[in-house]
Formats: sequence, C-alpha cells, structure tokens
Amino acid sequence: MSYAFRVEHVCSRSGARLGRLDTAHGSVPTPTFMPVGTQGAIKGGVLPRDLREMGAGMVLGNTYHLLLRPGPERIAAAGGLQRFTGWKGPMLTDSGGFQVFSLGHQAKITDAGVVFRSHLDGAKVRLDAEEAMRVQELFGADIMMAFDQCPPAGADRAFVESAMRRTTAWLDRCLLARRRKGEVALYGIVQGAIDAALRTRHVEEICARDGCEGFAIGGLSVGEATDVTYEICAHTARQMPADKARYLMGVGTPEDLIHCIGFGIDQFDCVLPSRNGRHGNVYTRDGGLRIKNSRFAADDGPLDPDCGCPACQTVGRSLIRHLWMAGEVAGGLWMTLHNLWFFQDLTREARAAIAEDRYDLWASATLARMASGIWRS
Ligand SMILES: [Zn+2]
Repeated sequence: MSYAFRVEHVCSRSGARLGRLDTAHGSVPTPTFMPVGTQGAIKGGVLPRDLREMGAGMVLGNTYHLLLRPGPERIAAAGGLQRFTGWKGPMLTDSGGFQVFSLGHQAKITDAGVVFRSHLDGAKVRLDAEEAMRVQELFGADIMMAFDQCPPAGADRAFVESAMRRTTAWLDRCLLARRRKGEVALYGIVQGAIDAALRTRHVEEICARDGCEGFAIGGLSVGEATDVTYEICAHTARQMPADKARYLMGVGTPEDLIHCIGFGIDQFDCVLPSRNGRHGNVYTRDGGLRIKNSRFAADDGPLDPDCGCPACQTVGRSLIRHLWMAGEVAGGLWMTLHNLWFFQDLTREARAAIAEDRYDLWASATLARMASGIWRS
C-alpha cells in the first residue's frame, strides 16, 4: 500500500480532525500518538507485543541514535527497522538534526549541513539533507522527516530567520535527494519559533513544496510558556494545507494533546509517557501521581481505576511502589506500560468525540478532571 492521508471528518464544534494514514505497514486512525522507540525499542522495556496490545498505530525511531549505532547499513541488511525491531507496524523517523544539536558534541552548523562528534566515541560524523534521506530510506521508514534546523528557545530573530532559510533550502535538497516515493512519505517542517509573522512566512514557503506528502510544526515546546505553545500551534496549523497530515513534533503532555487536537493536529510524539514512567510519575484521568509518595504504600487500588491496561488490571499502587522503592525494573515497566496505554486511550477517546461532533465538550470535561488531580505535569 502507498502512503495516503485523508480527513474523514472535522468536528463541527472545533477544529479537531478525524483521519486515516495508510502506509505500506498498516493503516493508522488519526489523531494518533506515536511512542518513541529511541534506539530500536521503547525505553523502559515495553515490547512490540505491548505496543500492539495498547493499539499504538505508529512508532517513531530516532535517526541520530540509530545512525551512530548500529548504523543504517546494518539495519537495512536486517530487513529494515520493522524486521530489525520486531515492530511490524508503521514507522516514522526523524532526520537526526534535532538531537545532533542537543546531544552531539561540538556541532558545527553551516549551510552545507552539520558536522559533530558522536557522544559515544567522539568520532566525527557529518549529517546533511542528502545523508538524512539516504539513512532514513535505508531504515525503511514509512514517513521520513526533512532535515531542518530547530532554533533553541530564546534565540534572537536573526538566528530564527537564518534557521528558517536553511530549513527551506535543506527541504529542497531533501526533495531532490529522496529516491523512494509513493510508498514512503516525506514531511517538510515549519519553523519560526514563537513569532506568529515568521510562522506565517515559513508556512507559505514550506507548504508550497508540492513534493511533500505531509507537514510538521517543529520548534515548539522547547521552553516557551504553554499558552504561547498553544497560540503558535493554532496559528500555524490553521494555515497549513487541509488535505495533508499535520504533525506537531515532540509535544507533549496529555493537556497539550487535548488542546492541539482541537487545533487540527493529526500526529504527535513525545518521550514524556515513557520517561515519566521510568521516573515514577504516573498519568491518570484524575491528574498525575508520584508513586514514591508514602500514601501509596498501603493503597492496593490500580494506578487509574478507569484504565484497562495490564498494570491496572493486574497489580495495585502498593506493589508498584514497593518495586519502585526496592529498585526493581518491573516498577518502572508497569508505570511506563500504563502511561503509554493512557496516551493511546486519550487519542481513542478523542477520535470517538470528534466522530460524534462533541470534541470541545469532551476536551473541557477531560481537562477539568485532570486539573482536579494530585500532580500537574
Ligand atoms: Zn493503566
């Protein structure tokens, strides 16, 4: 099957969209949340079988990590990311750029690309638009991301404009360099930091590239205030083409998902559910909870009474807290499993609400219940 995206329904009371993404490895209902498979697995020990059980549609792979180890040639020889990792469903890979800027040592950025030192062994590595396409094609991604420059929070206007110019030029090089079309999609990325006028200008540049099958909003949730994230997301999303998928990169919390689905975002990814699970922080319908709190020591109830995940159906908060305090990996695993399941439940409920034209009502009721909780994420 070739890549295809279609909007099936737009909620009449909000901008939320119900859609479907078809790929060579399966079909995904949207809005969708993509768990992050950093190095070929979800951090914390969640297995492909668990991802299937929770109804995850698409998984994200990090080019930066997989490029350095075990390398794209090894993954291609193993039959691509799906065969290599055991996750047989659709996969999206990022371009590696974002993590080079945050993890690579001595990253030197020019119009040509970026040269950096591997955080593993200090080896010099070069990444540019052409290499990002070559590597993602070797991985066998269903959706490839264009090589872009994401300016850090607080960057001045000249820096942001220079990153936008580079991102546009690099997208054109990606479009020329890509070999696989039809069954594989390439998404262009809109930058512009938190400046609405710059976002408008960059949407006009990036979304004019007909060769892109979808578009993403990059550079949000990098340290700005939450209301600014929402304002810029809404402003940008409504100018993007209505017939192509909109992916908000690296966002976010359950609250972020609920707000941004309402702005017409179709795809999300974030490390928060798995990272928080590993650190003892649990998302529930009544807000977050920290498992180390002593009041859970004798609490035999499930993490979330309304959750159908294997953790909530099998063990109580007391056991998970005990494992966590004892340093057993199973403690973090139960919480990671639950958190990822919770995010899938959230998008499932959102899709049902959009289909019934009651997204705004569902969103405000869900947000109000979360806000009443113990710990706000
Ligand atoms: Zn659960």
